[in-house]
Amino acid sequence: MATRNENLNNLLTSSSFADMVRNKLMKTIKEYRISHPRQEIYMMAWGDTTHCLSPTIVEALVDASHQLGHPSTYTGYGEFEGSTELRESICNSYYKDYDVEFNPDEIFVGDGAQSVTFDIQELFGVDNSVALQDPIYPPYLEANLFTGRTEIVYLPCDEKNDFVPAPPDSRVDIIYLCFPNNPTGAVATRSQLNAFVEYAKRNNSIIIFDAVYSAFISEPDIPRSIYEIPGANECAIEIGSFSKMAGFTGLRLGWAVIPNALTLENTAMGELTEMFRVAQSIKFWGASSLAQQGGIAALSKQGKQECQKIVDFYMDSAKLLKNGLTSPDLTCFGGIHNPYIWVKGADGQSSWDVFHYLLANAGIAGIPGHFFGASGEGFVRLSALSHHEQIDKAMNQYKSLV
Ligand code: PLP
Repeated sequence: MATRNENLNNLLTSSSFADMVRNKLMKTIKEYRISHPRQEIYMMAWGDTTHCLSPTIVEALVDASHQLGHPSTYTGYGEFEGSTELRESICNSYYKDYDVEFNPDEIFVGDGAQSVTFDIQELFGVDNSVALQDPIYPPYLEANLFTGRTEIVYLPCDEKNDFVPAPPDSRVDIIYLCFPNNPTGAVATRSQLNAFVEYAKRNNSIIIFDAVYSAFISEPDIPRSIYEIPGANECAIEIGSFSKMAGFTGLRLGWAVIPNALTLENTAMGELTEMFRVAQSIKFWGASSLAQQGGIAALSKQGKQECQKIVDFYMDSAKLLKNGLTSPDLTCFGGIHNPYIWVKGADGQSSWDVFHYLLANAGIAGIPGHFFGASGEGFVRLSALSHHEQIDKAMNQYKSLV
């Protein structure tokens, strides 16, 4: 008889993030709606974009569709690593802006950062130890549990360390870092990232750096890429995405950088890059050609300017939300280099207390912070990836009630 995958079963019985959202959060919001039929509820839980695509991207998508609809320009399967043109654009119009040099062979395009996150961890042995920020974007933990890794070290991120941990005290094999951070909104300085790169080189560890929110950084001194730190190309993989910087949450497009200089025990330079190429060719036959044409347009000069305006729009939303909520009852973190506000209530309040306070007083539904890990207890994550009118309405309600 066939048997089930126990790793997946353990993940489900210990409650995945998606299960907590479905079974606890959505249930609570539904019950609240029923008991408060006249109150408007503003969903600020999801990290999903709401602004429409920029005109340059739309034009590229229309052109690409017409090409697919004409016999002389139709194309089918493409390169499974992503089109050369898109990978060149990522090198020349994204990384070069940060003085980082890669060649297109080191870039792997996927259908969003989410699946890339899962794919990357398959490069490593099941017995590798993993360090995670706590609170944490849940898929890093879940992908590793799914694969059967059990040695997980948590790096607490709290007010004492401004939500940026120091490198682990002991040796770990793989360290996940996400800056700007989801859910806390924190960013890491050059010297903080430098400490992680030094740690990784000293301990032969690998950093997996999630730079999905890099476009939201507004200060030139804060690194947008781990590769701005010297030596990081020898010890770090980076994950990027068009989702938040260009509104591709529905179109789906992301990438990973696996530098040729990166080595593991018993692997030579370039071998890991080659291993990932083979792994992808076995299970992934390339991102949508339409999405890739959109991605090339997003990285054009005009596309970048238009996308930046949309990012600025979200950051204005974040400012409105943060300023509006900061009060004697609430302390708000983040929302400066990232669209998330990490809201804390009075000392001793649980995440659910803060959640219910926001719902009752502003009609705002967020995500209880402990869904992201034990150190998230006492906080709620709000997403400002929404329209100003929504936030204005919620803030008016808040001001009138508090
Ligand atoms: N990484 C982080 C930190 C995220 O917050 C998200 C989505 O919210 C992702 C990765 C996934 O992005 P994508 O839409 O490219 O799969």
